[in-house]
This record gives sequence, structure tokens and C-alpha cells, in this order.
Amino acid sequence: MDEQPLSYDVIVIGLGAMGSSAAYHLAQRGLRVLGIEQFTPAHTLGSSHGSTRIVRQAYYEKPDYVPLLKRSYELWDELSAAFGERLLVRCGALMMGPPDGPVVAGTLESARRWNLAHEVWDSARLHERFPQFEMPAEHVAVFEADAGYARAEASVLANIELAIEWGAELWFDTEVESVQLGPAGVHIGAADVEVTAPRVVIATGAWASRLANLDRYPIAVQRQTVHWWEPAAGPAALADYAPDRFPVYLWEWPSEPDQPPVELYGFPYLAGDSGVKAALYRDGQRTDPDVIDRVVTDADAQRLVPVLQRCLPGLAGRRVLGSACMYTGVPDDDFVLGVHPGSSGRVVLAVGFSGHGFKFMPVVGEIVADLVTEGETPLDIGFLSPERLAVQDAVG
Ligand SMILES: Cc1cc2nc3c(=O)[nH]c(=O)nc-3n(C[C@H](O)[C@H](O)[C@H](O)COP(=O)(O)OP(=O)(O)OC[C@H]3O[C@@H](n4cnc5c(N)ncnc54)[C@H](O)[C@@H]3O)c2cc1C
Repeated sequence: MDEQPLSYDVIVIGLGAMGSSAAYHLAQRGLRVLGIEQFTPAHTLGSSHGSTRIVRQAYYEKPDYVPLLKRSYELWDELSAAFGERLLVRCGALMMGPPDGPVVAGTLESARRWNLAHEVWDSARLHERFPQFEMPAEHVAVFEADAGYARAEASVLANIELAIEWGAELWFDTEVESVQLGPAGVHIGAADVEVTAPRVVIATGAWASRLANLDRYPIAVQRQTVHWWEPAAGPAALADYAPDRFPVYLWEWPSEPDQPPVELYGFPYLAGDSGVKAALYRDGQRTDPDVIDRVVTDADAQRLVPVLQRCLPGLAGRRVLGSACMYTGVPDDDFVLGVHPGSSGRVVLAVGFSGHGFKFMPVVGEIVADLVTEGETPLDIGFLSPERLAVQDAVG
């Protein structure tokens, strides 16, 4: 006799940032949740490692994100309280660059539209407050005191631990090989096991194109590297970059003539690290998650070094560590969050976070739980809908 597949209320595929948050929120609502992850909990092979992620609300990318971020902030605090550790550290953020550039102008547009507390500083004021930065007189800095950084791996582990506490069953080291719609719901084939559920969540990050006909979507994976720096004055100067003396920042920096500007970003020094993390945003080559080169060398920091020397000269000492990670982007750089159009409402997608999704992790979990349990969410996610990518598809 054929063995009956195991059945659940919902199956979450991928337990990185978004999937672990979805599993937590779904389990909290009392559903029988199975989560399946191909690697170990909070591993370093996807897009959610490297210790820290910038979290901010005055969103230069698009003001439409701000209501999601307001809710995300509430949920960050709830997650920290439930886990018993501070996962979001509010050390402040600087958004810097030419006043009419997309970073500064977009930040101010979102801050003003949504009445978010902020200050606009010239280079003299910036130097008084954070003398580490060398900002030219023609740039400005927008300071958002309530912004900061999230602890990346700790936040994923918090979701995983809390999901298990709420009764979720989580399988690790198990790769999902196929997703098929059938009369009994959605059938998942994973490492010689068949499981089924009326609803499935796909949160597979850089591997998104592998399942449910998502190879038809314009999803592209980029290799990104981040680097840790010992200050020019040596390890004793690391304290000058501690979170009470140094914020997170993102600085639009015009590079060579005829070249698009680069964006330098970075974090404060975290106690115990051997350096201070800084990197260039969207500075990488297209890759494939199964063959990505994870070895990081000085050559990866070639474009970053002159920018760091110019903007933060005291920090531009020795490169002590590097890490490779992946952005999973779609052409408009927005997310792919909503019901899979080819799934008769049975598959929810939370993919394509385009290199800026982590700060939304808690609200994405809540939105996915809304979509699975209610079929809709009170938050406006129309601009993130899979339909906007205009792909004719069907699952399985
Ligand atoms: C270098 C870097 C810096 C960033 N900085 C910021 C920042 O400052 N602020 C910010 O908000 N965002 C930032 N981001 C973006 C943010 O980190 C990502 O958008 C977010 O972490 C993506 O989460 P995810 O759940 O989609 O992917 P992941 O966390 O990678 O999760 C996907 C999971 O699915 C699993 N999986 C895939 N396929 C299968 C399968 N078939 N079966 C089972 N499991 C599977 C994978 O193993 C993985 O664990 C940054 C990203 C990078 C790379």
C-alpha cells in the first residue's frame, strides 16, 4: 500500500529571514506549520548573514514602504521582547549625498510625507556630531535618530526558536525538490518524503527560480561582498566607531564622470569583532546561488577602498575580514510579495527582496500569515504584487 503523505495546514519552504518569520507568525495563529530548510538554522550561504542589517523608516526608495516599516518597527520590538534579546539597535542613521540625489531627496520625501522625525545637517554640523565622516560642503546628511541596525543571524534564530515554541515542525538539511498543485492541496516533494497542505509559502531567497515556475519571473541574483576594516590608527581606535559614537549610514557618492554614483554604507563597531563593517551597495556580478564564489579577497574591495579613504579616512586601515552574500532582484527593485497568480490562491510568494528586505522581516511574516489565513492583508502591498511582473504562469 502507498504511504499517505504527511499533511499540515501550511508548509513554508525556506527558513531564512522571511520564511522563518512567516513560520513564526503562522504558528502563533494556531496553524499546523511545517517549515523546510535546505541548510542549517541561520546559515551563512544565503542572504541573511554577516551580523547586521540597516533598519530605517525614512525610505528613499519609495514612500509606499513607510506604512510597512511602521508596522515592522512595532513587530521588531515585539520579537525582541518575546525572544528576550534586543534585536533592533537604534543607534541612528545618516542618509548622505548631494541634496538633489535620490538618497537625500528620497529620504526627505518619505520623512515629510509620513511625518517622520529627522534632522538635516550640513558638513559643519555633521563634523560636530560625528567627526569620523569627511563630508564635502556640497553634500548634506539626513539624520534619523530612530533608525539603526538589526542583528541578522540572531533575528532569524529568534523566529526559528519562537516558531518551534508555538508548535511549528521545522526540518533542516532538507531540500524541497518540487511543488505541485493537486486535488488535496499543494504537494511538496522533499528528500524522499511527500508532504501536503492546502497552502504553501515560498520564501526561497536566491533559489526562488527553482520552484513553482518562478524561472519565468525576471529574478536575477547578484553576488555582493561586505568587508570589515581595522581603523588606520589600529585596534585601539575601534571604540571610536561603537554604536554610541557612530551611526549606520548610506552615502551616495558621485564616482567617475559618466559613471553612476556609488553608495557607501556601513555600521558601527560591534564589541568582539575585529573590524568595522563597510561596503558598497549593489556592487556585484550576476551569479547563481549554487556556484557563487564565497571566497572574498582584496580584489573585491577594489572600488570600495578609494571611496572609504575619501569619506571615512580614519576607518580606511587594514581589511581584516570579508563575506559574500546574494541580492535577489527584480527589475523595479521592489519585492515579490503576494499570492502566486498561477496557484488558485494556494501559494504565497515572499521572494525577490532586491537587496533591501531584512528590515521588513517581521512585517513580511505577518503579511504572509494574513494572506494564508485571510487571503488578504490590511497593509497596502499592491505595489509588490507578483502580477505586476506580468508573467503568465501556473504552478506544477
Ligand atoms: C550583503 C547584503 C547586505 C544587505 N543589507 C541590507 C540592509 O542593510 N538592510 C536590509 O533591510 N536588507 C539588507 N539586505 C537584504 C536582506 O538581507 C535580504 O533581502 C533578506 O535577508 C532576504 O531574506 P530571504 O528570506 O528572502 O532570503 P534567505 O534568508 O537567503 O532565505 C532563503 C532560504 O530559503 C532556503 N531555500 C532555498 N531553496 C530551498 C529549497 N528548495 N528547499 C529548502 N530550502 C530552500 C535557503 O537555504 C535560505 O535559507 C542585504 C543583503 C545582502 C546580501
